[in-house]
Amino acid sequence: MNQDVSRTPNGIVRTFPIPTGYLFVGDYSKGPLETLSIGDYGKARNVKADFLGYTKEIEGVPNTYCMPLSDKWVVTVSTQYGCPMKCTFCDVPNVPFRGNASFEDLRKQLYNALSLFPEVSYTERLNLHYARMGDPIFNEQVFAFSRWLHDHKRQIQEEMGLRIEVLHPVLTTSLPRKFGKLEERIQEWCSIKNDVYHGQAGLQFSINSTNEAQRTQMFGNQQLPLDDFARIAERLPAPLSRKYCLNFAYSTDFEIDAGKVAALFDRDKFMVKITPIHNNNACRENGIVTLGGYDSWAPYKKPEEDLQKAGFDVLVFVPSIDEEDGLVTCGNAVLGGSTLKTTEDIIKIEGIKR
Ligand code: SF4
Repeated sequence: MNQDVSRTPNGIVRTFPIPTGYLFVGDYSKGPLETLSIGDYGKARNVKADFLGYTKEIEGVPNTYCMPLSDKWVVTVSTQYGCPMKCTFCDVPNVPFRGNASFEDLRKQLYNALSLFPEVSYTERLNLHYARMGDPIFNEQVFAFSRWLHDHKRQIQEEMGLRIEVLHPVLTTSLPRKFGKLEERIQEWCSIKNDVYHGQAGLQFSINSTNEAQRTQMFGNQQLPLDDFARIAERLPAPLSRKYCLNFAYSTDFEIDAGKVAALFDRDKFMVKITPIHNNNACRENGIVTLGGYDSWAPYKKPEEDLQKAGFDVLVFVPSIDEEDGLVTCGNAVLGGSTLKTTEDIIKIEGIKR
């Protein structure tokens, strides 16, 4: 098979080279969607997670080279045209909302992401994040597509010339309270994680604060209160492999009360992930910031210790400034008004020459 022919981009209209790969915009069934095709530095550099053996306190992450894409490739797709949620830490609500991405829109985004590195013919691990524009819980095609992907790795190999050893989809939701099918969809993803992927899939819940007044402000009053979510959480099946993840995008002012987390959530089912809140237009306008979060361990020290004492596995993930400037981090959107001006030689991935 001729890989150059099989990996022809289909409908990409703008491509932004960024240090970790590409951010690109394509034209799909209802208009533009943006997608990421990027590498990863590896957990040793940007993660502290004592339970996984990564115990070094992170004092900033160097703007270095990513691992080869044959070791790990990360694709982040948009699941909606804009987003009906109103998170005040995110630029996506600036994009006019036009509904859900179709199955074909999701497939095309993935194939386009793979087409940007036609020289890579094998990857040990492809992480597919449903986390660019939109809350994926609203879109039933995300579920259909994930089931399809599991059974069609061979087809992807034939069509794209890429052999994928492990394909790991991750769904992240902000828990919209006005969505009647919320619990049903969460349960469905648990079944995809446990029964279809046999544990090799992720489920993350954006919690961000244990203070409901703060959550109301940051989620624009669209979020399910934590007490209500805790009742849904109780009914979730035990996770296979990696636990379900309670995500805290942590601004210095947000509360992480380990006692409340422990009172509401089962340590055997849930782990906790802490990241800095990202420096995008919305956060700058709304004064949301993680003071020192990109170059010092100080902001994470206490919440990590408190949560560990309460019995939780805790993972702290810190992006590099390169990732931040490349708009890789959640809550950014070139379609939402952020700007990027770069050239191909900015890409720093081992084994990739441009
Ligand atoms: S953070 Fe996610 S759910 Fe909230 S507005 Fe942005 S894209 Fe939507």
